Formats: sequence, C-alpha cells, structure tokens
Amino acid sequence: MTDRTPPGRTWAGTHEFRAAELLVPATIAEAQELVAARDRIRSLGTRHSFNDLADTPGSLLALTGIAPDVVIDTDARTVTVGAGTRYAVVASELAARGWALHNLGSLPHISVGGATATATHGSGDHNGNLSTAVRALEFIAPDGSLRAVRSGDADFAGSVVHLGALGPVTRVTLAIEPGYRARQDTYEGLTWDDLFDRLDVVTGAGYSVSVFTTWDTPTVGNIWVKERVGEASAPDMVPTLLSARRRAEKALSPTGEEADNTTEQGGAIGDWHERLPHFRIDATPSNGDEIQTEYLVDRAVAVDAIRAVRSIAGRVAPALLVTELRTVAADELWLSTAYGRDSLCIHFTWRNLPDAVAAAIVEVERVLAPFDPRPHWGKLFAMPIGASFPRLGDFRELVARTDPAGKFRGPYLERVLRV
Ligand SMILES: Cc1cc2nc3c(=O)[nH]c(=O)nc-3n(C[C@H](O)[C@H](O)[C@H](O)COP(=O)(O)OP(=O)(O)OC[C@H]3O[C@@H](n4cnc5c(N)ncnc54)[C@H](O)[C@@H]3O)c2cc1C
Repeated sequence: MTDRTPPGRTWAGTHEFRAAELLVPATIAEAQELVAARDRIRSLGTRHSFNDLADTPGSLLALTGIAPDVVIDTDARTVTVGAGTRYAVVASELAARGWALHNLGSLPHISVGGATATATHGSGDHNGNLSTAVRALEFIAPDGSLRAVRSGDADFAGSVVHLGALGPVTRVTLAIEPGYRARQDTYEGLTWDDLFDRLDVVTGAGYSVSVFTTWDTPTVGNIWVKERVGEASAPDMVPTLLSARRRAEKALSPTGEEADNTTEQGGAIGDWHERLPHFRIDATPSNGDEIQTEYLVDRAVAVDAIRAVRSIAGRVAPALLVTELRTVAADELWLSTAYGRDSLCIHFTWRNLPDAVAAAIVEVERVLAPFDPRPHWGKLFAMPIGASFPRLGDFRELVARTDPAGKFRGPYLERVLRV
C-alpha cells in the first residue's frame, strides 16, 4: 500500500521540498498507477543531494519502499536491483555471493537510482563514476507503462545520468566483477610542492585515492589510499608517499579528527565494500550539519585549478570544513560530469553557514572559471550550465521526446538545464 506523507527536507536539511506530497509505493505496479494519475511527479532517492534537484510542484515519488529484489546474473556479470535500494544492501548481497562493484561513493547510504542519476563518483584514476556501471534501466513512462533502456540502445548514453527528467526508474542493472579484498591506509605531511609537481604520483598511489585539505595549512592534509589486494597476500604499504608518512593509527575523519564513523583504516584487509566507502553503513556519515559543493575539471588543467583555489584559501577558510580531491576516469554518458575527459574533482564540505557558503561559492567559481568546471548536479553551485556539457542539447531533445507534457520536469531542471 502506498504511504503518503509531507515531503520534508534533504538529508542535510539544505532544502525544504515544496512538493505537495511524498508517495512511497510498496510495489512497482502501485508506482505505475501513481505516475499515470499525476500531472507533475518526480522521484526522490535517499535525499542526499543538497539542492532542489528532485523537487516538483506536484508529487514526489520515492521508490525506497519497494523490495530490493537483488538478481545476480553470473553469465552476464550483472546485478539488477530496485532503484530505491541503498548501495549498502546491494554491496552486502554481492560480497556474500563472491561478487563486487567496481567502486563506491564516500557513503553507502545513498540509493542506486539516485546516485547513478547524478553521476555520483568515488575515486581512482582508472575508475569511471558509479553511473558507468549501469547496463540497463527500467523507467516508468508518463502513461504509467514500463520502458527499458539497455546498453547498446541509441538512447542509452543519454539516459543513464538523467537527473530524474526521464521518469522514475524502477530497476537498475549494474556491471559486476569477482569479489576482491582491499586495504585502506592514510598518509599525512605531503608538501604542497609535491602535490603540484607529482599530482599523478599522488592520485596513482592506489586504486582509489582521496586528498583532504583545508588549503591554508603548511602541508596538504590527509591522504586516504584504498588499494585492492590479492586474496592471500597482505603486502605492507610503503611507509612514505613522497613527502607524506603513513599513519599507523586507525580512524581519522575526513577533517583529520578521531572518528568512529569511518571504514577501517591502518591497513587491515577487508572486503571491498568495507574499505572503498569512507563511511560505515551503521554510522551517521560525514558531519551531517553541512553543505557540499563540487566541481570537476579536466585532468590536463588539474594542477592549475588546484593552485587557483589555493590562491583564495583565506576567503574559503571561514566557511570550510574540508576539501577533498579525487579523480574519475572519462566516460561517454551525456550528462556525466566526466563526459569525455579524465577528471579531477574538487570538493568542498562547508559549514552550515548558508550566507558565507554562498559568498565562498562565488569566489571558487570565479577562480575556476578559466578551467571549464562542471558542477556536481546534486550539490550547491551558482554558475550557469552551458558549453561545458556538450551533449546538453541532445539531452533536451531526449527529454522532449520521452516526456512531451513535462510531467517529470521541476524548477531545477527548468532553471539549470532549461528543458
Ligand atoms: C554525506 C554525503 C556524502 C556524499 N558523497 C558523495 C560522493 O562521495 N561522491 C559523489 O559524487 N556524491 C556524493 N554525495 C552526493 C550524492 O551522492 C548525490 O547527491 C546522489 O544523487 C544522492 O543520491 P540519493 O539517492 O540521495 O538521490 P536524491 O538526492 O534523493 O535524488 C537525486 C536525483 O536523482 C533522482 N532520482 C532519485 N531516485 C530516482 C529514481 N528511482 N528514478 C529516477 N530518478 C531518481 C532525483 O529525482 C534527483 O534528480 C554525497 C552526499 C552526502 C549527503
């Protein structure tokens, strides 16, 4: 039976949804009926975006109440799940049966449907974002019927990072690979010169690397290196990474404090899904009382972009909790923030100070403008979206074709994408 409630706010409380109601159906059939009967309706995942991306003047539809129904196809090497399923659920099921995903974001609490809709990413020079694992999607069309889009279909590359504009997704099929083990080590004390001169060495130090900084410190900050390891081997990581030294201790938060919500550090080997995310599923991720912003630039200009942000360290510092630098491999998904370019991600976790953050965002966007930044769709930004997404025009045509009456559009899509 469908649950109906007021829509509430985003996870971090940064946006109060203006939709008239939140509908949480228990089955796909119920969701289809709700879509057919509404004039304006948009999907909501686990609310981890920070802006009004999901909002609509009509109804919000969360598919998080539908059973995950995890189906592993070992021949095709795929897993198919309900779109409202959290990554933690899919990952645990896969790990228990000896399978894995290629990567995870910083937290496993987000839904597969919501994360892949916005090109959510983890890190790793050779790792595409989470959307690149998508092999098929099942959408609810405006008339309530089901519509499948599979890898190889003409509309596939335009349909994976869809921002909810193509209708609710009921089921997502993801590529899987044999399960693997991983370890996580942290380093501290990297000089700024080493970061600027040897950025490739730093980001290539492991399977997935995150560099945390507050910009205004004498050395860069903490570096988290997640490395895949063989089943039997437990090689010791090198004690130094350029000028940085490996920490023997465990459990630092991204801001460098002792924390109990992070995944195991200090080199202990564990299953892939218990090392790749920063945060444990059984704990509150991140600070909670925060705002986030992120921009992706081409790897070719990465060092200059980092230097540019560092030049305004004093102006971002008052609003900043921490910055995280990660890398993502290029892909061909039209609205992906890594479309056509290997990318450096420059992320800001801000204090919950909306006015100071708004001022800092203007400053950051000003100094990053020469580097053609692409903002993360689900985080706060002020810049207009234009030529930096070269397939935006094609995406608008796809939206017009699949949703001619605008049932799945909302204020964000109209303002930012001009669909
Ligand atoms: C603490 C924290 C850490 C984060 N870490 C990362 C990170 O490491 N990397 C990163 O890239 N991002 C990160 N994010 C951002 C987050 O991953 C994205 O905003 C993601 O889209 C959130 O997924 P969600 O399920 O909460 O989706 P929501 O925020 O609820 O929705 C996002 C979009 O997806 C659409 N959508 C959701 N479900 C469906 C569906 N079933 N069918 C159709 N459309 C749907 C919505 O309409 C909306 O457009 C983080 C956010 C937080 C709060």
